[in-house]
Amino acid sequence: MKRPIYLDHHSTTPVDSIVLQAMLPYFSERYGNPASRAHEFGWTAEAAVELAREQIAESIGARPKEIVFTSGATESNNLALEGVMRANRNRGNHLIVTAVEHRSILDPALALKDQGFELTILPVDSYGRVNAEDLKKAIRPTTILFSAIFANNEIGTLNPVAELGKICAERDVLFHTDAVQALGRLAINVNDLNVDLMTLSAHKIYGPKGVGALYVRRTPKRTKIEPLILGGGHEKGMRSGTLNVPAVVGFGKAIELARSRMTEENEITSKLRDALFQGIRSKIDRIELNGHPTERLANNLNLSFMGVPSALLILELRDIAVSSGSACSSADNRSSHVLENIGVAGERLSSAIRFGIGRGNTLEEIQYTVDRLAEAVKKIRQARQDSEVIEHGTH
Ligand code: PMP
Repeated sequence: MKRPIYLDHHSTTPVDSIVLQAMLPYFSERYGNPASRAHEFGWTAEAAVELAREQIAESIGARPKEIVFTSGATESNNLALEGVMRANRNRGNHLIVTAVEHRSILDPALALKDQGFELTILPVDSYGRVNAEDLKKAIRPTTILFSAIFANNEIGTLNPVAELGKICAERDVLFHTDAVQALGRLAINVNDLNVDLMTLSAHKIYGPKGVGALYVRRTPKRTKIEPLILGGGHEKGMRSGTLNVPAVVGFGKAIELARSRMTEENEITSKLRDALFQGIRSKIDRIELNGHPTERLANNLNLSFMGVPSALLILELRDIAVSSGSACSSADNRSSHVLENIGVAGERLSSAIRFGIGRGNTLEEIQYTVDRLAEAVKKIRQARQDSEVIEHGTH
């Protein structure tokens, strides 16, 4: 068994070797610029980009024309919110987002509020799901856009996306979903779900970092969107800049691979996830599950180990890569707004750990993780108990 063990697949995933092989020729053999219309080099690159666009479109039931390549989900989320709100000013000024969105939704939403748009941050239930009645009540005649995360990146909870999409469609409100964690793990069809805009990223599905896409509905009604990046008018004017061809090719290959393996992979990861949860439950007491018990991603487990600050546990588990929240919030050390907004507080909040199982993890690794966790939790709880005894002794 190789160590360290990687159990942080919500943060990022390794590039699959099949994906890497597909990308390699586009660095220094087929290096043309897909926007070069005058020669073979350009045509070759363009054909590769268009194949990837088809692969991505097909995976979500969209048309290739509706896929806009971006530098990743952060840019896609910014484009969806700012681009749609600015382009539809004549129709209204109200935006709704949920309280458990990724920061790349919440921060642009707050920036739009500063610019004079009206913003509702919709609360969620204790599992992190949007309540349909709450959404209906929040929609106003001036509401332009509602954005709800498909599958939560911290707690894995799945939103009732079809139900939310239907509510929006009936009220002529545009519906955006950040489907980064759902892509390749759940069957997605933008038409069945009534989704108008959808954010996707390659590096969560064994593709390269730094490439993503925004699905923008064109039929039956074309979604109005203003670009954030101006220049050569690439991507139908919605996102200028020469495309990162190898990354785009890798994204297409990664989604094709993920789709072909989805059922089998979900079965394996959910078995490993369940084995992890059962193993932990059998060896460690005072644990709490965060997020929905069943409506959650097959590869996600978020647990609080009461009395064990997550920072200490992560340090103790040196050869096992887990996280205390999203990698993006870890970067600035803010406590998890997702957990706070599902009502998790105090000791349960400060002791939460996210496990993300992925392609390549084995039962042996899971069993090792359970043993290491049991040891570490025991050690930390004991040390904290001892220090309490000492503290009390000095009073
Ligand atoms: N949305 C969600 C739900 C995510 O999990 C992430 C990655 N942590 C992002 C957006 C940002 O993705 P990217 O790294 O592609 O910018």
